[in-house]
Amino acid sequence: MDLSPPRAWAEIDLDALKKNYQYALTQSNGAEVMAVVKANAYGHGVENVVRALEEFQPAFYGVANVAEAREVRAFLPKARIYLLGAANPSEYAEIVQAGYTPCVSNLAELQIYKELAESAGVVMPLHVAVDTGMGRGGFQPDDPAFTEALNFQHSHVQIEGVGSHLPVADEDEGFTQKQFQVFQSCCPPDLRYKHLANSAGILHFPSGGCNLIRPGLMLYGCSPLPEYQEHLSPVMSLYSRISLLRKVPEGASVSYGRTFITQRPSIIAVIGIGYADGVQRSLSGKNAHVFINGHRAPIVGRVTMDQIMVDVTDHSRVEIGDQVEIFGKNIPVSEMSSQAGTIPWEIFTGIAPRVTRVPL
Ligand SMILES: *Cc1c(COP(=O)(O)O)cnc(C)c1O
Repeated sequence: MDLSPPRAWAEIDLDALKKNYQYALTQSNGAEVMAVVKANAYGHGVENVVRALEEFQPAFYGVANVAEAREVRAFLPKARIYLLGAANPSEYAEIVQAGYTPCVSNLAELQIYKELAESAGVVMPLHVAVDTGMGRGGFQPDDPAFTEALNFQHSHVQIEGVGSHLPVADEDEGFTQKQFQVFQSCCPPDLRYKHLANSAGILHFPSGGCNLIRPGLMLYGCSPLPEYQEHLSPVMSLYSRISLLRKVPEGASVSYGRTFITQRPSIIAVIGIGYADGVQRSLSGKNAHVFINGHRAPIVGRVTMDQIMVDVTDHSRVEIGDQVEIFGKNIPVSEMSSQAGTIPWEIFTGIAPRVTRVPL
């Protein structure tokens, strides 16, 4: 089957990505970087993203599972790859054989990696996760087992790092400050890698005192805190085109549920993108806007699977085939996410495979 010319596409500005990485470096206080590229680099296309970032030689690429690790490995055979969350038992053997770097949350996991490393005849680098408040993994800081893991000595295991995570770095300064303190007080000073900060932690707590940072969202040009947005450039711009222009009378209903009724004779543009592409259905009825030929225009009626309708009555020069920005340089992704009742992370990772990624 021939590929259809794209009805919806996402331009990926790799220069913007590099600029954002460099901005993370300026906020890192000399720390090294784990570039977080899980979930297909937050939907941006992992191949182009890791190839673009390789000039900076990040210490690690952070992924969610072994399938993602394999992908990064295929593009960058020498790069170190870190698994950000707990591995599944079915992943242990491959992690050891391929030499990915996992983190452990208990002594049982540590034991399993030790045994697998021993029988594979490899030395396994491991990070120890500590729970300073995220509540998703890691030892409790005051658990003797945590100290035992940090001091674990075995010829096939190298404890090379300790990591923790921030649940409210963009919401609760006091709690986050406390996490940095707890983390520092429970980190052995001579450990090779100490890492705690996600994007919000890097931007809002730049003197975090760790020696490895884990930026995700900010690399893609979106700040979790609006006050730092000016330092970042959006990487993804999502586009489609006008496929129809329809003149409809006053009192006409638009889309499923007939939730929108025209209040005047109107011109409705039909755009070839919908919730199956990642334009959330929950944007329906929220007065969300798209950007056409230098102007904002409101989405009217419900978002459908493959199409949205936009009121262009007030726009003089619109034509079939005109390019429409859903979000990007003119409509911030954070505007779309808040109107959709979600977060930019979910918008990015929800951009469907059928949306062609076009690297710039
Ligand atoms: C996803 C993830 C990150 C990156 O978070 P951002 O908020 O996108 O910067 C950092 N650390 C861990 C453990 C993660 O799972």
